[in-house]
Parts: sequence; C-alpha cells; structure tokens
Amino acid sequence: ARPRRAYLYADPAAHSRSPAMHRAAFAHAGLTGTYEAVRVPAPELPAALARLREPGVLGANLSLPHKEAALAHLDSLTEAARAVGAVNTVVNRKGRLAGENTDAPGLLAALEEAGVSLGGLAVVLGAGGAARAAVWALRSVGYDVRVVNRTPARAGALVRDLGGTMQVTGDVPWADATLLVNASSAGLDAPDETPLPGFDVSSLHPEALVYDMVYQPRETRLMREARAAGLRAENGLSMLAHQARLAFLAWTGVDVPVSVFRAAAGGEGGRP
Ligand code: NDP
Repeated sequence: ARPRRAYLYADPAAHSRSPAMHRAAFAHAGLTGTYEAVRVPAPELPAALARLREPGVLGANLSLPHKEAALAHLDSLTEAARAVGAVNTVVNRKGRLAGENTDAPGLLAALEEAGVSLGGLAVVLGAGGAARAAVWALRSVGYDVRVVNRTPARAGALVRDLGGTMQVTGDVPWADATLLVNASSAGLDAPDETPLPGFDVSSLHPEALVYDMVYQPRETRLMREARAAGLRAENGLSMLAHQARLAFLAWTGVDVPVSVFRAAAGGEGGRP
C-alpha cells in the first residue's frame, strides 16, 4: 500500500506526544503510515502548509505558534475552526486543505467519557486558545458558560466573540456550577500554582466535575483540592487523546479506540 504521511508543525516540535499517538494508531489500524514532528518557524508556515497538498500526504497537526496563523492559508474551515479562530488539524483533500479544530469536540468527548451529562452551568478559567475552544464547545451543547480570567479584558474579548458571560470570582454562582474547566496554563510548570488563588473548590455543586486541561503533572493542585472536597477531577490527558483520535479519523476514516491514543500518550513529560 502507498505510505500515508502526516506531520506535526510546531516550534518547538520536540517532546510532543503526537508522534507516539499517531504511530500507535497506524499500527492499530493496520495502515502503512508515518507521522513526523517538524520544527516549523513561523515565517516558514505558508511553505510548509503548501507541501501538505502533495499526493500521499494526509495532513498535519498544528501547535504553537501556528494554530491561528494557519487560518489565512487554508481552502476551507469547519464551523468549529472558524468560530474558535484556531486550527489544530489540517486535512489534505485531493490537494485542497481543510482546517479543523479537534480540541473543541475532543473536550466534549472527554467529558462524555467521564460520564458527564452535558448541559447546565459551566465555569471556564482562562481566555487563551484552549479557553476559546472550551467555550465554543460547551456553548454548542447548551451549557450556560461563565468565563473567569486573570486578565478580565481578555475574557471580555472572548465572550464578545463567542458568547457566554464574563465574571469575576466573587460573582459566579458557584453552587450551581456542575462543571469547572481549567483552560488556563496555571499549574503547567508549577504544580502548586492554582488558577484561582483563594478559591474554595468545595463551593461548587456537589456533583461537579473539575476538568483540568493541564495533563502534566497528572494531578494538579486544583485536582487535588477537588478530590479532597469529594468532587470528581480529571486531567487533560483524555482530551489530548480524543483530539488525536478525531484528527486520525479525519485523515484516514478509521476511528481507532481512544485507549490506543491514551496508552501511547501516557509517558511522562511532553507537550501536545
Ligand atoms: P494561552 O497562553 O493562550 O492562555 C493561557 C491562559 O492562562 C491565559 O488566559 C492566562 O491568563 C492564563 N494564566 C496563565 N498563567 C496563569 C496563572 N498563574 N494564574 C491564572 N491564570 C493564568 O494558552 P492555551 O490556551 O494555549 O493553553 C492553556 C492550557 O491548556 C495549557 O496548559 C495547555 O497545555 C492546555 N491545553 C490542553 C489541551 C489538551 O488536549 N488537554 C489542548 C490545548 C491546551 P492571562 O490572560 O491573564 O495571561
């Protein structure tokens, strides 16, 4: 069979978990395929994207700093990619490039896997790219979304684009919130950092799930505090695995079980 080629374009590109996940998926699906992480500096993105049009190329994942910059160089965008304003998956459809955002549906798939019945009041912490994907995804399935960010002006811009309500910590009706999503990067490099200093996680609804998009460390301080308060808490590994599953499905048409991606992503360290 003709080898299928897929890539990660990022800068830096080392330490990504994506090659391990997609190589495991090719093997599981019984397909001949390669997945290479390529360091693409920002000025080289247009030329790198043009190479994805070649026959035999499935497409690419995009990570920092390309997710927003790629929008202008693609032939079509899914509704999620257009609304979120970010592309993490490019699909080569016979020489035409389609941009998708699998972070947004990846989060919803992770929540469903965690047994959440979608809908109700959700609080999203953060206002960067991950928060934009979360807000769009949660609103698309009917959540009333409240956005809290360290820099309120950024949360204001986010809700102007995507809907939802910007709030400060003191104004959130915490007891009604059945979902708290940490889409801030607090805790990423400092395990004891918390996105909401002084916040008492036990003020959430007793059935609430705390979903921390950070996946390293495995248990963030926010997750530890949630579990100590008797709440359920999950890290972002399930979302990482589902966004990869959905990208692989878009490229190949094969829905490889999420457990294959999760097992391959399981090592310590690394970035998406
Ligand atoms: P951005 O840099 O775009 O945004 C970071 C956000 O975090 C900003 O809103 C920033 O606030 C806030 N923030 C940073 N440090 C702190 C702090 N100490 N206290 C409170 N808020 C803070 O990052 P991304 O949106 O791209 O990524 C955010 C996180 O989501 C990362 O940890 C990333 O790894 C993770 N992620 C996980 C995925 C998964 O599949 N599990 C997918 C995508 C992302 P301010 O506006 O004030 O600067």
